[in-house]
Amino acid sequence: MATINLALTDEQRALKSGVTDICKRYPGEYWRDLDSRREYPEKFVNELTQAGYLGALIPQEYGGAGLPIRDGALILETIHANGGSASACHAQMYIMGTVLRHGSEAQKKQYLPKIATGELRLQAFGVTEPDAGSDTTKLKTTAVRRGDRYVVNGRKMFISRAMQSDLMLLLARTTPVEQIARRTDGLSVFLIDIRGIKGLEIRPLRMMMNHSTNALFFDDMEIPATSLIGEEGKGFSYILSGMNAERILVASESIGDGRWFTEKAVAYSGGRVIFGKPIGANQGVQFPIARGHMATEAAALMRDKAAALFDAGEPCGPEANMAKYLAAEAAWEAGNACIDCHGGYGYAEEYDIERKFRETRLYQVAPVSTNLILSYVATHVLGMPKSF
Ligand SMILES: Cc1cc2nc3c(=O)[nH]c(=O)nc-3n(C[C@H](O)[C@H](O)[C@H](O)COP(=O)(O)OP(=O)(O)OC[C@H]3O[C@@H](n4cnc5c(N)ncnc54)[C@H](O)[C@@H]3O)c2cc1C
Repeated sequence: MATINLALTDEQRALKSGVTDICKRYPGEYWRDLDSRREYPEKFVNELTQAGYLGALIPQEYGGAGLPIRDGALILETIHANGGSASACHAQMYIMGTVLRHGSEAQKKQYLPKIATGELRLQAFGVTEPDAGSDTTKLKTTAVRRGDRYVVNGRKMFISRAMQSDLMLLLARTTPVEQIARRTDGLSVFLIDIRGIKGLEIRPLRMMMNHSTNALFFDDMEIPATSLIGEEGKGFSYILSGMNAERILVASESIGDGRWFTEKAVAYSGGRVIFGKPIGANQGVQFPIARGHMATEAAALMRDKAAALFDAGEPCGPEANMAKYLAAEAAWEAGNACIDCHGGYGYAEEYDIERKFRETRLYQVAPVSTNLILSYVATHVLGMPKSF
C-alpha cells in the first residue's frame, strides 16, 4: 500500500545535496546569459547527465539508477529551487517511460542503456500540431506503412529540443479517421533517430522564455518499421500512460519555483527599508508571500501523494493532475508576490525574477493547460457531464 514519507531519507538528502552542488556551479548569470541568447544549457545538462541524474528512473538492468519517481521529482524540484531550469532536460527523464512500458525487449536493450548514460539524447516529444492542440486525437500527421518503412508527412508545433536530441518520440496517425471505431484509435508511437534524417525540417521558434522549441515539417520522411513502439494504432493509450509521470515531475519543477520565489521575496522584503522600516514588516507585503508559500507547500503534499501512489503502482491520475495544477498555480502566486515586493527591481534582469516569472508561467499551458486539468477533474474525478 502507498505510504507518504514526509521526511527525506538519508539517501534523498544526499541526492538533494548532490544536485544542489551542481546547481551552485550554474548561478543566475549562467541562466541569464543563455536566456538572452536563447541557447541550450549544454554544460549544465551534460554535467547532470554525467552524474546520472537524468537516468534516475531507468531501471538498473538497463543501466539507469532505478530510483522511484519521488526521487526524480526531488532532482527536478531542487534544480528549480536553486534558480535553474530543468525544463531543458526533464524529458530525458520521462519520455523513455513509453519505451520502457511498451517497447520490445530489443528496443529497450538498444536504447535505454544509451539514454541512461546520455550517449543518446531522447528529449523531443512530438505530439502537438497546429490544428490539433489540446485535442490530440485530431492530429493529422500521418505515418503510412510501405514495406519495411513508414513514410511520415505532416506538421508538429512547439516541439521542444528537437535540435538538441538524437531521438524523438513521435505520435502520428497510422489509420485514417474514417476507418477507426473510437476517436482514440489509429494513432501510433514511433521512436525515431532524427540525426541527419531526410524529410524533416526543424524551424526554431523564439518563445517568451528560453525553451528550444520548434515547428517541425515532415515531407516524406522515411523511418524503419522497427521504429514502431508496441502495437500499431494503440499510441494514444501509450502516451496517456506516461502522463502521470510527466505531471508529477513537472509539478515538482513548479514547487521548486514556488520555493525559490518565496525565499527571494522573504530575503528582499526583510532587507529593503522604505518609510523607515523593512517593507516585509507590512502585512500588505507579507500576506501575498505567505499565501504563495502555503499554496506551494499544499501542492508539494499533493505531489507527494501522487508520487507515493505512482511508486506503489496504484492509480494516481487524479492526484498527478491535481498536483500539476496546484503547483503551477502556487508558483505563479509566489512569483507574483515576489515580483510585487521587489517593486521596480523585480523587472531588472540581474535579479533573475523576471526570467523565472516568464519560465514559471509556461506551466499554466504546457505540457497540459490548467483548463484541461480542471475539465479532467470535473468529468473524470467528479463525474460531471462532459462538454467535449
Ligand atoms: C514553450 C512550449 C513548449 C512546448 N513543448 C512541447 C513539446 O515538446 N511537445 C509537444 O507535443 N507539445 C509541446 N508544447 C505544446 C503544448 O503542450 C500545447 O501548447 C498545449 O497542449 C496547448 O495546445 P495549444 O497551444 O494548441 O492550445 P489550444 O488547444 O488551442 O488551447 C488554447 C486555450 O484554449 C483552452 N481550451 C481548449 N479547449 C478547451 C476546452 N474544451 N475547455 C476549456 N478550455 C479549452 C486551452 O486550455 C488553452 O488555454 C509546448 C508549448 C510551449 C508553449
